[in-house]
Amino acid sequence: MKRLTRAREVREVVTAERAQGRRVAFVPTMGYLHEGHLSLVERARAEADLVVMSIFVNPLQFAPTEDLARYPRDMEGDALKAESRGVDLLFVPDVTEMYPATPRVSVTPGPLADRWEGAVRPGHFAGVLTVVLKLLNIVQPHVIYMGRKDAQQAVLVEAMCEDLNVGVRVRVSPTVRDSDGLALSSRNVYLSPEERGRALAIPGALQAIQAAFTVAAIRDADSLVAAGWEVLEREPSVGVEYLALVNPRTLEPRESEAETGDLVLVAARVGSTRLIDNIVLGAT
Ligand code: AMP
Repeated sequence: MKRLTRAREVREVVTAERAQGRRVAFVPTMGYLHEGHLSLVERARAEADLVVMSIFVNPLQFAPTEDLARYPRDMEGDALKAESRGVDLLFVPDVTEMYPATPRVSVTPGPLADRWEGAVRPGHFAGVLTVVLKLLNIVQPHVIYMGRKDAQQAVLVEAMCEDLNVGVRVRVSPTVRDSDGLALSSRNVYLSPEERGRALAIPGALQAIQAAFTVAAIRDADSLVAAGWEVLEREPSVGVEYLALVNPRTLEPRESEAETGDLVLVAARVGSTRLIDNIVLGAT
């Protein structure tokens, strides 16, 4: 595995590979890799000739009050995991490589970012889309691999690639969970064992909604969301920011009937850790 820190070098390698007709896959991450990230690598490995991963903790997508400074990092561990799972090129730019100066131009996400994560974290998706577009311009892949775990982010990246004619296919992969049901996240490392136990109310609520939809055949959106609240209310120390059943394309809340393929989005605080999760209704 090649490890590069310069955008120009990455472009050179990829340009040469593409010139030989090789298919290039790209997996952008913020590092502290877990099986969720590595599931994207596995899929990319199966579908492409050259697998490029980036590790970059993007300051543009963190508000000053957020966890940029303490975001977990383990570059050497990550490099070993990436290499052992088949990454060919690891791009690890530093902040000055990505932002030699404050960007004068950035991506405006539009209405898909008005709700949910975008409402709680103003400016977050402008930061995400700007860095993703920069990375796509540097790496020039055929396909980008994203996780459903960050559902709103995946929808926004798909919208950006389509609306701005980026010419990159977006593949979205299912959320990988721990055996207890908690979605894998680099931020889970912040949780004490006791907090981790309480955090299980989050996947518990999503499972309750899934069961109400698939087993009890409930279709009324409010009743489905209520089934999730029942679980969350049993763990009052989990501070729910939102729990919503939404149209997967517009991200607008369903007003009456839920449909197979709808998303249920949740964000909650457990102690000082903020977690997000979601399910696709009716997905196995
Ligand atoms: P991050 O390093 O958190 O920015 O995540 C990098 C990529 O990995 C994003 O596309 C995430 O959606 C994806 N990802 C993170 N956690 C998971 C997970 N548990 N399952 C699947 N994909 C994930």
